[in-house]
Amino acid sequence: MSFFREEFIARSAAVRVRFGPGVRRSVAEEMEALGARRALILTTPQQAELADEFSAYCGGLAVGSYTGATMHTPVSVSEDATTLAGALGADVLLSVGGGSTIGLGKAIALRTDLPQIAVPTTYAGSEATPIIGQTENGVKTTQSTAKVQPEVILYDAELVTTLPVEMTVTSALNAMAHAAEGLYARDRSPISTLMAVEGLRAFRDGLPRVLANPEDTSARGETLYGAWLCGTVLGQVGMALHHKLCHTLGGSFDLPHAQTHAIVLPHAIAYNAQAALEQLAPLAELFGDSNPGRGLRSFAKQVGSPMALRDLGLAEADLDRAADLAVANPYWNPRPVERDAIRKLLQAAWAGEELAV
Ligand code: NAD
Repeated sequence: MSFFREEFIARSAAVRVRFGPGVRRSVAEEMEALGARRALILTTPQQAELADEFSAYCGGLAVGSYTGATMHTPVSVSEDATTLAGALGADVLLSVGGGSTIGLGKAIALRTDLPQIAVPTTYAGSEATPIIGQTENGVKTTQSTAKVQPEVILYDAELVTTLPVEMTVTSALNAMAHAAEGLYARDRSPISTLMAVEGLRAFRDGLPRVLANPEDTSARGETLYGAWLCGTVLGQVGMALHHKLCHTLGGSFDLPHAQTHAIVLPHAIAYNAQAALEQLAPLAELFGDSNPGRGLRSFAKQVGSPMALRDLGLAEADLDRAADLAVANPYWNPRPVERDAIRKLLQAAWAGEELAV
């Protein structure tokens, strides 16, 4: 292992994680452990009924709910919810939902320092990171601060059984993207690599089982375990070209988060494979192809992922601008980020064709 010839730094956050079907019913216990007595429950409008369900689990310790969480964490929504948290005297935030809802909890925590209990219902992984993206006047900015890292995470597979199949697939690939890029991150450690490999394995094995029976809580549990590992990798090491491309496509062309990740991932990994073949070897092995991008592409096809950016509504005429934006202020990447090669990558991702490298 080349690790032992190199220096590394391993970081991990102080997070309490509880895992298991039905564990969401332990919210009151977790509040007590935090010394909290006044929970503000956060959801999206689509998952508003969970606010009532969780209010019951709080055993009289919920002071209200805010069901207006929405994509991209708009500052106006965060300020609204922060005002409500202050007016209600909330002393803990209970975020129940996907990355959008957990993002809102983080945005309130950033402004108030309130502790957070995150109960994820997708695989996006935000609950396991100190990262927050916020949008104001159409501009999304991202920062990393321990202030927004949730103190408690409750992973309950029963909650994920309602995730529609299409979102299940794209959210899983979104999570896998964190692990795939974690494998070649400059600041990776032996521990982040272990988590990345195990996270990818959990999705490789668990996702087909979920698709065979979306209500199977054992299969959902395996994928949720993968989401925890992949999200933790995202929280610990730097991301590269894949995440830059997805942030560009989401931020400037309003493409949906999880679907964009799902489509771009095999292309970004194919692009980087020649520069990071050794680091990506576990991925190649897991997906049974010496070309790791091709292996991921076969897996994505097998699980019924969308394959072409054009199907998300991106116009071919936008690809030039997307390439320009993607190469401006690039994140560190194992292979140089060259405009013409990125334009070619985007063309392949747009058309849903395999990237020839
Ligand atoms: P989402 O939270 O936007 O959810 C999408 C839709 O699915 C919503 O309507 C939601 O209510 C619904 N939904 C979620 N779980 C469901 C379930 N179990 N059953 C039925 N419906 C359900 O989607 P997402 O992909 O989880 O999150 C995307 C957002 O998270 C993006 O804004 C992204 O930038 C952010 N994110 C942030 C980080 C981070 O570390 N800061 C990491 C990953 C994603």
